[in-house]
Amino acid sequence: AVSLQGVGKAFGEQTVLDDVHLELRAGSVTVLIGPSGAGKSTLLRLINHLERADSGFVTVGGQLIGYRRDGDTLYELPEGEIRRRRAEVGMVFQGFNLFPHMTALENIIEAPIAVRGISRAQAEQQARTLLERVGLADKADAFPRQLSGGQQQRVAIARALALQPKVLLFDEPTSALDPELVSEVLSVIEELASSGTTLVIVTHELGFARRVADHVVMMDQGRVIEQGTPDALFEHPRQQRTADFLAKTL
Ligand code: ATP
Ligand code: MG
Repeated sequence: AVSLQGVGKAFGEQTVLDDVHLELRAGSVTVLIGPSGAGKSTLLRLINHLERADSGFVTVGGQLIGYRRDGDTLYELPEGEIRRRRAEVGMVFQGFNLFPHMTALENIIEAPIAVRGISRAQAEQQARTLLERVGLADKADAFPRQLSGGQQQRVAIARALALQPKVLLFDEPTSALDPELVSEVLSVIEELASSGTTLVIVTHELGFARRVADHVVMMDQGRVIEQGTPDALFEHPRQQRTADFLAKTL
């Protein structure tokens, strides 16, 4: 579903991603791990074109996200078209990023109405189904400040799902939560994983990664240094840097 081919990215002098190749199958769950500064967030942001690659290509469902190709030349797409394609890639961040002046329901229906052009009634019906799926059927009319961090993050997941993305990206979705709220968010993600949604998750929750991942990718200094099944990577890392990272994180 997602393909990165020779992707490079620099910020000024600093190379942040260096010749990254990744193939993520539709319906698979990929967990990205690696030390701070490895380029994990930048990689996610490239997948939904919040950042642009300096070299290489990113495709989702076979389509370039921010460009159209004509022969060997890439042309940047107009903003409206980028927004429509970006809607195919949902993203849930560490912070909850809900609109504070909107209820949970309003947060969820805003983008489907604006981007997908569906009716308010239809959007509301879908939003209620999604709230039920994340265990918050009774919180439709609550404002973010009336919700716990874990509940806000579950609304954020429902909001991302409302656009029916081909791929859902999570950037440390539980690292801003109090410890007792982590598991309620992880179990929602686990449910998504088992339902066949294509997921890419940056997390330091290695126990969770081992349970849900089909594929684990270890990054360091802008490079993919090792990838494989959870069993291969966690039990039999081939790279010393992977072993050192796991020892520090466990
Ligand atoms: P963490 O685990 O701390 O979240 P990460 O693996 O997600 O780290 P990135 O956020 O992708 O790492 O950052 C990779 C490198 O790129 C870091 O050195 C960071 O300082 C740098 N970087 C990221 N975004 C920018 C930016 N907009 N401008 C300049 N440098 C940036
Ligand atoms: Mg990060």
